[in-house]
Amino acid sequence: MAGSPPPWRGASAVLATMHGKERAIAPLAARFLGLDVRVAEGLDTDLFGTFSREIERAGTPLDAARAKIAAAFTIDPHARVGIASEGSFGPHPSLPFAALDRELLVLIDRETGLELVGHHATMATNFAHQVVTDAKAGLAFAMKAGFPAHGVIVIGVRDGQPASQLALFKAITTEADLLAALEQAIALTGAAHVETDMRAHRNPRRMRAIRRAMIDLVRRSRSHCPACARPGFAMTGRAHGLPCAWCASPTHLTRAEVWTCEGCGHREERPVSATSADPMHCEDCNP
Ligand SMILES: [Zn+2]
Ligand SMILES: [Zn+2]
Repeated sequence: MAGSPPPWRGASAVLATMHGKERAIAPLAARFLGLDVRVAEGLDTDLFGTFSREIERAGTPLDAARAKIAAAFTIDPHARVGIASEGSFGPHPSLPFAALDRELLVLIDRETGLELVGHHATMATNFAHQVVTDAKAGLAFAMKAGFPAHGVIVIGVRDGQPASQLALFKAITTEADLLAALEQAIALTGAAHVETDMRAHRNPRRMRAIRRAMIDLVRRSRSHCPACARPGFAMTGRAHGLPCAWCASPTHLTRAEVWTCEGCGHREERPVSATSADPMHCEDCNP
């Protein structure tokens, strides 16, 4: 695991952000990857999708991050490395009523073609929304979501759905601004959709999650493929079939971690520490 990082000592990297993500990314990139990170000045990352739905994101989060990096390279043509992050928020796949923040961080070295992807998923998110017809209820929602340290966005409502073309307030920093925005949206559209602002500079919890994704990316940058030495050798799945301790038939428990190289396709199974499964997991011994 503990290999040396890619040879970027002093190389420049351009970061596709207009939401202050350099605070989470640049110090780690400098310290562990030797990269001098600059922000892509003038890049409108909202063109690749906004959380407040004026612009829908096209494709997967990975597609969106790659498109942001391509745009950042056009702004900073001398940068060797491009970096972008993409967050996805939604209900937890297996826990009802819990929200999950999935952060993806992509780094592309256009000299070598290397692409590294860092991941972090966390339930430590305030991601939520509520439709209110009363400004006080909107204020109460915002306070619960951590306002004003965490931002909120107020949107007009049509047919029960947020309608940002009718009313949209994103730059809310004080309680007075918030009440005014809520009252205006309610006066215009009959209700206000108030939601947590998930933009990194207005969401300290998200900023922490992006930092964790960057730590994951640093870790992957030091993991080299045993066949071709490309950085980014990582666990990509699990192999099932740990044998039953009594009858040795395969169970659904994990037998090995599967590690793969995106460069050369090298695949390695790393057995878990257990060599046999408790018969309670066996379909033959414990039907
Ligand atoms: Zn390889
Ligand atoms: Zn068995």
